[in-house]
Amino acid sequence: MHPIPLTHQFADRLPELSHPWRAEPCPSPQLVVLNESLAHELDLDADWLASADGIRWLTGASLDAATQPVAQAYSGHQFGGFSPLLGDGRALLLGELSTPNGPVDVHLKGSGPTPFSRAGADGRAALGPMLRELIVSEAMYALGVPTSRSLAVLTTGRPVFRHGREAGAVLVRTASSHLRVGSFQFAAARGDRALLQRLADYAIERHYPELATADSPYLALLRAVITAQAHTVAKWMLTGFIHGVMNTDNMTISGETLDYGPCAFMDGYDPATVFSSIDTEGRYAYNRQPAMAEWNLARFAETLLPLLDDDTNRAVELAQATLAEFADQYEQQFFAGMREKLGLVASPDEFSGRSDTQEARFASCDANLPLNSLAAQLLQLMERHRLDFTNTFRALTAAAAGDRKPIDTLLPDDGADFAAWLQRWGDLKPDAALMRRVNPVVVPRNHAVERALDEAAAGDAAELFALLEAVTDPFTERADRERFTQPAPADFARYYRTFCGT
Ligand code: AMP
Ligand code: MG
Repeated sequence: MHPIPLTHQFADRLPELSHPWRAEPCPSPQLVVLNESLAHELDLDADWLASADGIRWLTGASLDAATQPVAQAYSGHQFGGFSPLLGDGRALLLGELSTPNGPVDVHLKGSGPTPFSRAGADGRAALGPMLRELIVSEAMYALGVPTSRSLAVLTTGRPVFRHGREAGAVLVRTASSHLRVGSFQFAAARGDRALLQRLADYAIERHYPELATADSPYLALLRAVITAQAHTVAKWMLTGFIHGVMNTDNMTISGETLDYGPCAFMDGYDPATVFSSIDTEGRYAYNRQPAMAEWNLARFAETLLPLLDDDTNRAVELAQATLAEFADQYEQQFFAGMREKLGLVASPDEFSGRSDTQEARFASCDANLPLNSLAAQLLQLMERHRLDFTNTFRALTAAAAGDRKPIDTLLPDDGADFAAWLQRWGDLKPDAALMRRVNPVVVPRNHAVERALDEAAAGDAAELFALLEAVTDPFTERADRERFTQPAPADFARYYRTFCGT
C-alpha cells in the first residue's frame, strides 16, 4: 500500500478542469528544506519524507495506480486582460490529503511542462524563487495571514536557464484548495451552467459547508469569499505585504494567499510601492490591493450570475448589493487590526453586561472612530517621514512599555508633528502586551531573503535556516536576529525588483 494515501476528489468531480498528468522525472532529486513542523501538523512522518521513498513521493515520482495527479485548468485576468486558458503550466495537483480539518491539496510547482505550459516556457522552476515562496509563505503563516503552506523544496538535478544557469527545483505546497476566481472564470467562459454549479457546490462543500443549506447558497458563497478576502487583504495591509500579481488566477476561493512571485514586505512606508518588474502601471501597488481585490471579486460575482437568479437583472442587482459589502468589511478589518497594532482596544469590561445590545454596538463603534483617525494620521506621518513599516510599530511597542529610545532613534529631526501624535497616543495608555503579540519584529525583507538565497545557491544554507527560524517566530526579539530587522541599504532598494514566472 502507498504510505501516504491521496484522494482525487477534484479530478473526479471536476474532470473538465482536470488534465491527468505526471511530473517530469527528476534525474537526482535532493531535499533542500523539509518543513518538519508542517509535516507534523499534517500527521506525515518527517523521517519517511526525508528517505529515498519519501523524496520520490515528494517529487511525484512514486505514484500508485490509485493516485491521479492532474494539471488544473483555469482562466484569468492578468493585469486586467482576460486569458481564457491559463492552467497549471508548471504545476500539478498530486491529490488531496485527508486531515481532521478536511482535505488539503498536495501540489507541486516546477514539476515540468504540461499541456498548459506558456508558449516557449520550460515548465520548470529555479531553486531561488521556490525557496523564496517557502520563506515568505511560512512567514505569512506565522504572522497569522491566511496562506498556502510550503512542505518542502527539492532540487531536481536538472539545471534551468533564467539569469544564467541555475539549479532546477520543485516546491511541494499545500493549501485548503487551489480553487481560484480563475477556476470559476474557466467554467463560466465555457457557458456550461451545470459545470459552474458543480464547481460552486464543490467550493461550498470544501470551504463553506455551512452554506449548503442556506436559502441562496451561491449568493452566500459570494458573500463568504468577499468576507474571506476582505480579511486576508486587511492582514496584508497590516503587515506591509505586497502580493505583486493579484491576477484573478492567483486569488483563491478559500481566502488563502496564493502564488508568491514578485511579492515583498515594505521597508520605508510608501503606499505607492510596487515591486514587480512587470507591473509598470503600478496596478498592484501596496495601496491599490483592496481595490484590486474588489475588482477581482466583481469578476467572481460575474461568473456566479447564472446561479444567482434566472432573471439576469435581478442576479446583477443581488451581486452588486453583495459586492458593495466588501469596502465596509475591509475597512472594519483593517482598522480593527490597526487599533490592535496601536494597543488601543477598548477593554471588554467597558461594555460588559450590555455588550450584545444594539446600543452597545453603536457605542463601541463611536468609541473607535477617534482611534481610527489616530491610526490614519500615523500612516500619514509614516509616509511623510518614510518610516520603516515594521520597525515603527515595534518601536511604538517599546514606547508603550516605557522605552522611548527606539522611536526616538527612528524619528527624523523635523519630527515635531510625530512627537505631537506620540503624545496623544501615549495619553490613551496603549497596551504594550497586546502590541507585542501583533507587531512582528522580523518579516522576510527582500535584502535578507536575497542574501540567504545567494548563499544557499553557493552551497551554504546556514543563513537560509537562520532566516527561516526567525520569520517563523516573528514576535520574538533576539539579539542574534538583529540583521533581519534592518531595512534594506538605500542602493539595494533602488535596483531591486523581483521577477515573475521564474
Ligand atoms: P503565475 O505567474 O505563476 O501565476 O503563472 C501564470 C501562468 O504562467 C500560469 O498558467 C503558469 O502555469 C504559467 N507559467 C509560469 N511559469 C511557467 C514556466 N516556467 N513554464 C510554463 N508555464 C509557466
Ligand atoms: Mg498563478
